[in-house]
Amino acid sequence: MQTKEAKLKRGMFQNVMKQFNAVADLIELNESIRKILEATNNEIVIHFPVKMDNGEVKVFTGYRVQHNNALGPYKGGLRYHETTDTDSVKALAMWMTWKTSLVGLPFGGAKGGIKLNPSNYSKEELERITRRFVFALGDNIGPEHDIPAPDVNTNSQMMAWISDTYMSTRTPSERSNYQHVVTGKPVGSGGLEGRDRATGYGVYLTIKYWTKNNNVSLKGKKFIVQGFGNVGYWTSHFLEKDGAILVGVQDAFGSIAYGKGIQVEKLQEYIQYNKGSIVNYPNAQSIQSDDFYALSCDICIPAALGNQITEENAYKIKAFLVAEGANGPTSVEGEQILLEKGIAVIPDILCNAGGVIASYFEWLQNKHGELWELEDVLVKLEKKLHKSFDKVVEVSRKRNVDMRTAAYIIAIERIEQSYLQRGIFP
Ligand code: NAD
Repeated sequence: MQTKEAKLKRGMFQNVMKQFNAVADLIELNESIRKILEATNNEIVIHFPVKMDNGEVKVFTGYRVQHNNALGPYKGGLRYHETTDTDSVKALAMWMTWKTSLVGLPFGGAKGGIKLNPSNYSKEELERITRRFVFALGDNIGPEHDIPAPDVNTNSQMMAWISDTYMSTRTPSERSNYQHVVTGKPVGSGGLEGRDRATGYGVYLTIKYWTKNNNVSLKGKKFIVQGFGNVGYWTSHFLEKDGAILVGVQDAFGSIAYGKGIQVEKLQEYIQYNKGSIVNYPNAQSIQSDDFYALSCDICIPAALGNQITEENAYKIKAFLVAEGANGPTSVEGEQILLEKGIAVIPDILCNAGGVIASYFEWLQNKHGELWELEDVLVKLEKKLHKSFDKVVEVSRKRNVDMRTAAYIIAIERIEQSYLQRGIFP
């Protein structure tokens, strides 16, 4: 029998292929380029041993999938999760290719991770696992070749271990040339001011642009968030600052709701002392996980895993806007239901692109030996994201298509043009 987990993972890859093929048909994508983009350039699977705290040796499986590098070095996060496998990472790598292309960055798309549940390991074990994986990847990553970043269950500390391991395996005189092998590092170790909040800030900005375009005020609007990690928290932080009210949260451990408003900073403080979980938060009610997407709200923000809004629950959603903080949170069938109900969707490759835009800035900062200030980072990020948002809206209006289709058209046509200009070697 097919498990729910297997269905979700297979679903992600099927979704990205369906989305790609639909737009390739629509724009009559050059057949040779279609064949190239349907495939992933490299799929690396590594089994590597790590010594546990009790002396036992465990073998882990790590993945790095490099989808396409027509526009520049491969770029994409590393995910530590039990569901990580080649298919899920392939889907996530393709979404990175479309995202970097859409927002006009000189990067391609990749993704990777390790199949594990990090809560089962000590900090010391996670450090050894991370470092050994990076060592095993060797020159499959590199500052001008493939640049990882944080994703689900990975953070700035892990990025610091990655850069340190990679740099330590180079000769002493050239070590400092390699700091931009990874982005999302802590500020003291080559990281960029504001990278921590960049994805959530971008999600908030795209919601703000959408509401402005549609003459809706954010003040008093109710929103729900699935996932209260990096993306979910920062999105909520900025929305609340702008007068919106958080009324429901779901994470890996449970779901809570409170119609009068859940205070974002208080919840964030609570989870620091509750092993990262929202469960039993005293100022809200616990609800069944199946009831989460049925909560009464105006804006719904999936910011956890892929394939969460499907034909099984999309009909329950009451919001007028779904803003995809997560990568691939909505299945093709789920989106169809949302659109038929008149619910707008800000697609992931636009909505959460603030993260990779800031990663690009961090990469530039390290490459040029600079230190950027927070204010400059946020201003530059805003400018780039706003331009991309307006372009998506323009194409969506001109071609009378939804925002995801418009975003894919822009992304795929940019890559097509690059291939047409340079040809196929030899
Ligand atoms: P994170 O590890 O910081 O947080 C993940 C959150 O999701 C946690 O609150 C966790 O409890 C929750 N979660 C996990 N499984 C869940 C489940 N089955 N149901 C409900 N909640 C669940 O991760 P993050 O960095 O915030 O990433 C979240 C999403 O955003 C992912 O899809 C990721 O690919 C995407 N994303 C992240 C970034 C970034 O910069 N971190 C950039 C772009 C996109």
